[in-house]
Amino acid sequence: MIRVLEFKKEVRARIESVLDHGAIMEASRDWHAKRNPIPCGMTIHTGISCDFGCLYCYIYDMGFTGKPRPYNLSGLQLVYALTVNPYFTPGIHGTLLAFGSVTEPFMDNTLSRTLEYFRSLRDYLGNPQQVSTKAIIPDNLIDDLRLSVDPDISILISLSTLRHADKLEPRAPPPESRLVFASKLIKRGFHVTLFLRPIIPSITDREIKDILDKASSYNIETIVTGTLRVTPRILKNLEVSRVVDINQLKNRIPENLKPRVQVAIKSSDLKSYIIREAEKRGIKILPASCSANIDSHRQACAACDMGPCGLEEKLPEVDEEGVIGACEALGVRVSQVRIQNNIVNIKCIDKPDKCRVLKHLIISLARRTPKIKITS
Ligand code: SF4
Ligand code: SF4
Repeated sequence: MIRVLEFKKEVRARIESVLDHGAIMEASRDWHAKRNPIPCGMTIHTGISCDFGCLYCYIYDMGFTGKPRPYNLSGLQLVYALTVNPYFTPGIHGTLLAFGSVTEPFMDNTLSRTLEYFRSLRDYLGNPQQVSTKAIIPDNLIDDLRLSVDPDISILISLSTLRHADKLEPRAPPPESRLVFASKLIKRGFHVTLFLRPIIPSITDREIKDILDKASSYNIETIVTGTLRVTPRILKNLEVSRVVDINQLKNRIPENLKPRVQVAIKSSDLKSYIIREAEKRGIKILPASCSANIDSHRQACAACDMGPCGLEEKLPEVDEEGVIGACEALGVRVSQVRIQNNIVNIKCIDKPDKCRVLKHLIISLARRTPKIKITS
C-alpha cells in the first residue's frame, strides 16, 4: 500500500521533470485528474465525439456533437493527470481502466491517440486495460495494437443487432465484419468478449439465438450484456427508425424522461433470457464489463454484489490490521474497521473527500466492497 502511494508520487515526479509548466497545468485541470472512477473503473477518453451515428448513443445528449477529434492531452499528460487524481491507484492490481466512453477509440480520427494512451499508461502505470469498440483495425495495424497495449488487455466487441445495424448504427462497420475482426484478434491471442450493449428490446432479444450462434462460430466464448439508456432524443430516434417496437420500449421506461437525462430501461427479463440462451451454447456470461477486465487479467474482484468475479483464489488477502495501516498511510482517520464476507465496513471520521479516497483504494487494491459510514 505504502509502496503503491510512493510509486504514484515517483511517476508524477518523473513526468514533472520532462513536461513544461503549461502542459502540467493543462493535465492538472483535466477531467482525468479529478473524476471518481465509475463501477467499470476509470474511463479514459481517447477522443471526443463519434461519427458512427448510433441511434441509441447518449454522447450526443452529453453535448459531444461536433466532428470527432483525438483527446487534447498527450500520453504523458494523461499519465500525469491520473497521478494527481486522488481516487486513482496505479499498478496491475490498481484501478481498472476502460478506454472509450465518449468516443469510438478505434475510429480513424482517434486510433493513433488511443495507441499512444495504451503505451503510456502501460509503460508508466501498468493498470489493467480494457477497450470497447465497434470499429475495425486494418490487418496491418493489428501488430501496432499488440505492441501498444497491456498484454492481457480485455477487448469488448459491441453488437446489438445483426439485421438492423444499417438503420440503428448507420455509419458503424457491419456486425459481421466486427465478428470477423474479433476472430482475428482471438487468433492473435487477445482476450475478446462480445459486448451485447445495449440490449434493444424487440431487436436484440429476437435475434439473440442467431447472434450467439454467429459469435460461437467466430470462437467468441464470453459475453457481457448491457442495458439501454434512453433520453427523449434517443426514444424519438428509435421510433423514427421504424424497426423497434416502440410501445414495448416505452413500457420499459421506469420514469418520466427529461431532456438529456439518461434513464436505464427495465430489462432484467431480457437479460435472463439471453443468459439462458448463452448457457445452452456453453458461452460464459460475465455480469459486467469490469468482470471481463478482471477475467482477462486472471485476477479476482468482490467489489460489488455482482461478484465475486474471476478466480476467487486470487482475491488479495485483506485483514483489519492491514486496512487500518492503509488508513494511516493515507492520513485518513477511522474509528472502526470490520471485514465480513468480502465487505469492508469502515467508520470514517474524516472529511468526506478523504473517506472517498479510502473507498476507491479498498475497491482497487483490496478488490472488496467498501461500506463506509462517515461520522465526522
Ligand atoms: S460507436 Fe459508440 S460512441 Fe460512436 S455513436 Fe455508436 S455508441 Fe456512440
Ligand atoms: S465484483 Fe465483478 S462486477 Fe463487481 S466491480 Fe468487481 S469485477 Fe465488476
